Amino acid sequence: FLKQIEEDRKKAAKSVLEFKFNKKRVRILSKSKEVPEWGKGVIYWTFRDQRIHDNWAFLFAQKLALKNDVPLHFAFCRLPKFLDATLRHFKFIFEGLKETEKECKKLNIQFHFLIGCGKDVLPDFVKKHKLGAVVIDFMPLRGPMAWADELSKSLPDGVPLVQVDAHNIVPVWETSEKLEYAARTIRNKVNGKLPEFLTQYPPVIKHPHSGDLKASPIDWEEAEKTLEVDKSVGPVKWAKPGYRGGMQQLYTFVTKRIKNYGTARNDPNKNALSMLSPWFHFGHISVQRAILEVKKVKGYSESVAAFCEEAIVRRELSDNFCFYNKNYDSIKGAYDWAKKTLKDHSGDKRPYLYTKAELEQGHTHDDLWNAAQNTLINDGKIHGFMRMYWAKKILEWTESPEQALQYAIYLNDKYSLDGRDPNGFVGCMWSICGIHDQGWSERAVFGKIRYMNYEGCKRKFDINGYIIKHGGK
Ligand code: FAD
Repeated sequence: FLKQIEEDRKKAAKSVLEFKFNKKRVRILSKSKEVPEWGKGVIYWTFRDQRIHDNWAFLFAQKLALKNDVPLHFAFCRLPKFLDATLRHFKFIFEGLKETEKECKKLNIQFHFLIGCGKDVLPDFVKKHKLGAVVIDFMPLRGPMAWADELSKSLPDGVPLVQVDAHNIVPVWETSEKLEYAARTIRNKVNGKLPEFLTQYPPVIKHPHSGDLKASPIDWEEAEKTLEVDKSVGPVKWAKPGYRGGMQQLYTFVTKRIKNYGTARNDPNKNALSMLSPWFHFGHISVQRAILEVKKVKGYSESVAAFCEEAIVRRELSDNFCFYNKNYDSIKGAYDWAKKTLKDHSGDKRPYLYTKAELEQGHTHDDLWNAAQNTLINDGKIHGFMRMYWAKKILEWTESPEQALQYAIYLNDKYSLDGRDPNGFVGCMWSICGIHDQGWSERAVFGKIRYMNYEGCKRKFDINGYIIKHGGK
């Protein structure tokens, strides 16, 4: 599988230098546009797309380095914490980076593990080592967006800062220049641009230029010890971090599970999903690569189409939402009809009221909900269908929509491997305040927000099977 993909890359071009790189993926965030003559290297700072291969941002960094005959550097800047991420997430990141570090060595690329936020540590690092350009990936959350902005002002004079959207197939700024209302308003915009953007990747080649700046050895234990995160939430067993782990998951999806994706993806008892979201989230593998491989699958066109709808249209819609709506994680960011209906029903009596701790421990009256919460705690992932039910019940059982949203985001971000992602904010906002959805018939607590209930789940799938498997009592 991996060999075939390597062959595909080589067929696209010998290296990125000969490849016709689509500049629409690139935004220059600084005044300086060219690598200065004195520049002794190009550095890629990754936050979201932590891989070497199939990464437009890193490929662009190599292109700049090759064009200017300078060395290439890969940097990860370790924060002490990020939102509600726990040791579970940092371990996943570190294991993935260990693989990246090895791959960098093979490719004559220096891998730097820096302590601190890139916006704080990179300006001095770049200055000290006379690096001539910084390339960064794109993440539409407010923290990383602000860091990019600050970095553009604090890099040494003459050093360009270049951002490449390496996560979306169609760069978010190319798909649409405004906040899209729903999947139906973005679908044609994204799909219409696929012929231009859904292309093969060229290979990252062994870098021909070496310099004086060598990577320092990394003390992974120390990097972990000094984290300021909740260390009681540990790694999960089923998901092997890194590029190879992600590609293995993709391989089993396209050879085994995909045949059922079209018909059984909403049944939490069926093993029909790709399970790829953790690797997509940390950028260990590329969504574009997954789509290229899924599109090769013959005989299951319904499944292929359904996967493309989720992984392209729905996912890119989430990035659009976070990019253009600064209140992407707040009721303030909801549509007016949703804000009004939630307000109209804010005084409704809730059938049950649970505290954050009761929800976190899965101590509700609802065995199905508790089972979903167990999978979140134990596996770091709730099935896509159950995720909707899970969040909607939090709306029903807490004091206000604001509290519901806060608890849902907290639990999702703390335990879900793929949490702290535009998809997660949108998933919670969709469930609790109708983002990208429409109004439904009015009822208590929910108002016009789409409702889901236990009986409905019972009709859809074998809930007892799910509860027995995941232990919902
Ligand atoms: P598959 O069905 O195999 O889908 C493949 C890919 O398509 C996913 O990996 C994802 O990138 C994308 N995708 C699938 N469904 C959606 C969707 N509804 N919206 C946007 N993109 C989608 N997704 C996250 O990646 N991180 C989160 O933290 C997250 N939190 C969620 C919270 C709630 C309350 C809800 C309702 C949804 C959330 N989702 C989140 C969206 C979706 O449930 C997951 O992407 C999906 O379950 C991931 O599993 P998979 O990779 O096996 O999905």
